[in-house]
Amino acid sequence: MSVKTRFAPSPTGYLHVGGARTALYSWLHARANDGEFVLRIEDTDLERSTPEAVQAIMDGMKWLALEWDEGPIYQTHRFDRYKEVIQQLTGEQKAYPCFCSRERLDELRENQMNNKEKPRYDGKCRDLTAEQIDLSKDHVVRFKNPKEGVVTFKDVVKGEITIANKELDDLIIARTDGSPTYNFTVVVDDMDMGITQVIRGDDHINNTPRQINIFDALGYAAPEFGHVPMILGDDGKKLSKRHGAVSVMQYRDDGYLPEAVLNYLVRLGWSHGDQEVFSIAEMKSLFDINNINKAPSAFNTDKLKWLNQQYIKSTPIEKLMPHLQWHLDQQGVELSDGPEIADLVVEFSERAQTLNELVTVLKPYYQEFEAFDPKAAKKHLRPVARPVLELIKSKFAAVNDWQPESIQAAVDQTAAELDVGMGKVGMPLRVAATGAGMSPAIDLTLLWVGKERAIARIEKALDFISLRESQA
Ligand code: GLU
Repeated sequence: MSVKTRFAPSPTGYLHVGGARTALYSWLHARANDGEFVLRIEDTDLERSTPEAVQAIMDGMKWLALEWDEGPIYQTHRFDRYKEVIQQLTGEQKAYPCFCSRERLDELRENQMNNKEKPRYDGKCRDLTAEQIDLSKDHVVRFKNPKEGVVTFKDVVKGEITIANKELDDLIIARTDGSPTYNFTVVVDDMDMGITQVIRGDDHINNTPRQINIFDALGYAAPEFGHVPMILGDDGKKLSKRHGAVSVMQYRDDGYLPEAVLNYLVRLGWSHGDQEVFSIAEMKSLFDINNINKAPSAFNTDKLKWLNQQYIKSTPIEKLMPHLQWHLDQQGVELSDGPEIADLVVEFSERAQTLNELVTVLKPYYQEFEAFDPKAAKKHLRPVARPVLELIKSKFAAVNDWQPESIQAAVDQTAAELDVGMGKVGMPLRVAATGAGMSPAIDLTLLWVGKERAIARIEKALDFISLRESQA
């Protein structure tokens, strides 16, 4: 049977890191086996599901390029089908209407709790006779869970799991208003869609035996299951908003490349030897659900940053550019006002762990900066720098062919004429020209800043020094 997997989010919020990893594993399992990947929107909880959340989830998946082959399939569009299957099950005596009132169920529950028993439905309506059934009265529909025996399945991640049927009660599959419940719709969908592997968070593991019983009742072989352990924060607690960015799109905003996030997520709970860096093509060919880790993994932002830097460095400029351009646009940086971006990216990618950091260091080459970096200015824009900046300014003004050689010659001559070391010229010049104390080699820095801008900024630095003197 050809492989078919699905990602089945409930649209109650954005796509978070845990969901993205589940989606990634399902997608990779399909891709690694020439299979298909379905996006299914589990929106039967009408109160909590929103169209905005559906959009946010799809935006996150698109940004990560986790393309689906089928869908989005909305469960709310399938109510007729669920109704049909409920009727089938009741017709076959595999499900039954239950007329127990809320009060009765509350009382039952309370008694069980008082007796230290596990709260469960006692089966009062399980064997009602035809005469006792009046469907015009309020009722739910319950699934007749087998009373005896066990449910055993081999979880691809956790190994063999066995649950005794006596631990499971008769689950409600349709509410009083006729709407179907989660454990039931999942089964009908996984059956109708021909899903072969269900990969999902291990918070669903208790649902699985119940779902397997429903598959059995429908005479359909259940898919394989793989329950992926949760992701922990660096404090060992379940990853949540407290740990910072958990929305996938927040990672885009924070300057991460989707490939880096995918690479990070694939390793967060799966391994292939001790390889850390995987191209998407490698992931697709190497991913094997049998190698998903059993133990929960802890999120480590430093490692994600490290990976992101590797990707920034190694991604060819034409692939990097659309992502970088997005950040440049966000920060209002206009590339037509400056040097060839590709040259700068090669130079600066070593120093940037995120695209935001990259834009920050690129900015002064394309637009004016507001102020000199206070620390760098304090150290390098001092009165002793005045003669240096004045002399270099006049030398720059005389340079006609603004090239690394001519720039370097002006810097060398300034140092020689004033009889100072190169650092005494280079550092104030660097701070004056870029606003910051760190930049590439001085000739390249000045080349990229451009002659006019360099001179104007040296004047600005001289004003800064004067102001400082007048305040001293
Ligand atoms: N809709 C469920 C959730 O978002 C997932 C169900 C499943 O994968 O079976 O948690």
